[in-house]
Amino acid sequence: MKRYFPLLFCWLLLLPAVAFAAAGSDPEEQFQRLHGYYQRLLNTDEGEKRENWQRAARALQELHRQQARQEVGAKSLYLLGNLYHQLYRRSGIPLDLAEAITSLQEVQGLYPNHPLADDALFYVAHIFLYEQQDWQRAEQVLKRLLDLYPAGDVAPGAREMLATIGGGRAGSTGSERPVLQADGRYKRPVAPAQPPETRRSASTDQKAERRIAVLPVRHWSSERYTRVVVETEAPLNFRSHLQENGDGPQRLYLDLDGARLSPRIDSPVKQVADGLLQRIHHLQTAAGGVRLILDTQTRLDDYKIFSLDNPHRVVIDLIGQPAPTPPPLPTPPPVMARPATGESLSLAQQLGMGVRRIVIDPGHGGKDPGAISPSGIKEKDVTLRISRLLAAQLRRQGNEVILTRDRDIFLPLEERTAIANSHEADLFISVHANAAANRQARGVETYILDVVASDDQAMRVAARENASSARSFSELQGIVQELLNHAKLQESQQLAEFVHQTTLTSLRGAFGGQIEDRGVRRAPFVVLIGAQMPALLVEVGFLSNPEEERLLADERYLNRLVQGIAEGINHYANNLSLAER
Ligand SMILES: [Zn+2]
Repeated sequence: MKRYFPLLFCWLLLLPAVAFAAAGSDPEEQFQRLHGYYQRLLNTDEGEKRENWQRAARALQELHRQQARQEVGAKSLYLLGNLYHQLYRRSGIPLDLAEAITSLQEVQGLYPNHPLADDALFYVAHIFLYEQQDWQRAEQVLKRLLDLYPAGDVAPGAREMLATIGGGRAGSTGSERPVLQADGRYKRPVAPAQPPETRRSASTDQKAERRIAVLPVRHWSSERYTRVVVETEAPLNFRSHLQENGDGPQRLYLDLDGARLSPRIDSPVKQVADGLLQRIHHLQTAAGGVRLILDTQTRLDDYKIFSLDNPHRVVIDLIGQPAPTPPPLPTPPPVMARPATGESLSLAQQLGMGVRRIVIDPGHGGKDPGAISPSGIKEKDVTLRISRLLAAQLRRQGNEVILTRDRDIFLPLEERTAIANSHEADLFISVHANAAANRQARGVETYILDVVASDDQAMRVAARENASSARSFSELQGIVQELLNHAKLQESQQLAEFVHQTTLTSLRGAFGGQIEDRGVRRAPFVVLIGAQMPALLVEVGFLSNPEEERLLADERYLNRLVQGIAEGINHYANNLSLAER
């Protein structure tokens, strides 16, 4: 029963914004349009008008009426429940919540054999528990769910939830608020809690508003790696705990104190099912925090959790062998330029060698311009231009190339590495341009990841590229230390040495000795953290230096540069193939 959830929630991201009033079109298309419109209600100003929600609700009801007992009918009804729940979060009108519960209950009642039936009941239990603090009714629904669908994919989550709320129950009423204990179980409070009707009083709302919102979780998957990023509106403390289960799947708990779930989170359970991570539960605890529970599909080899700021986020890397059954629906890649199929095979490919797919990462983008030259040239534009040229060059050599961004958009650092990992790239190259207070500083430098920076200058470069303060920088070193075990350090060092040398040689061939060799260096760059393949960051010149500013706008310089980088990659690949023979 796992195929529908991922499908449904992938659409959230993909559907184009199209008007949905298109009678007579294919029901599936109608559903998709409505789903797209629902997404707009969640994310744009259109969601501020109640009438828009009601319009969407009416259209979904109509679609369900026309498609009763059909696949689209079941999905429409489920989405209707979803929509009313979100509307309630905005309106606070109890009737909206009642509509949500009714629609979801009807999914199970009308479509008991549909894969969404158990999900719908689970959703209802979440609403009872977290919107109404009615753990008794939540318990009833969960028991019914387990009776009817003991082997369904939400059954483990339902059992966990049942165990969690299984504190005192005798003589209690539905109005009592369960309290999360230190051991992770809920318990009924000794003193009577607020009755439900005062729950949304102004003071309660203000208190809730003061809590830090946890935004929808993002994730990237490959066969043996999953990165989950939890972004929050402000920094907050987190605690984690891994629950072992023999050799079986594990549960990873992430507790965020003083937090609330953003209304943009549209489902209590996010299904992932990528072979490593089964699903993520989002729980609003009665104690005023958020708990995320990550159910793995297999026993992890390793996992790492670290936080980054600007914006504030917690990054969870899971590493392991995938569960025997492959994922039914892999997550679509967030941003990528479709690789053109090269006509000729590179030497590495002819030899069946290890460098085939290369991810190139143009530094910065969108709201983050990177360094800016005195005359106003932005690093983000320079890096994109170079990356496109480099991609073209590498494709001509028969490599498959993926750009983390192919236009001027903002992309968080951890997402760039995640794109490389989830595409199982063989190499990761992050392209940057340098800047320094000293306008005389010039030249090319190539970096790989390390805990300690090679020197003060390298540290300043990393701090600038990480867009982080000195303080978080020192915290970062602790993170890197832990993560280095998985980094391909020797390979990265060799790759960096080849690329650095061929780049210098190529540039000097045209521009002579004025191109300064600043060497291969090391520093803790966030964009390199967690890369599962040889990875480097190249600083292609100084935008702060008047002469290099000119060069970085000169096509001849850029062409020489990408030829040099590409040649270094070839050397590396050929060297690998020799080593393996
Ligand atoms: Zn940069």
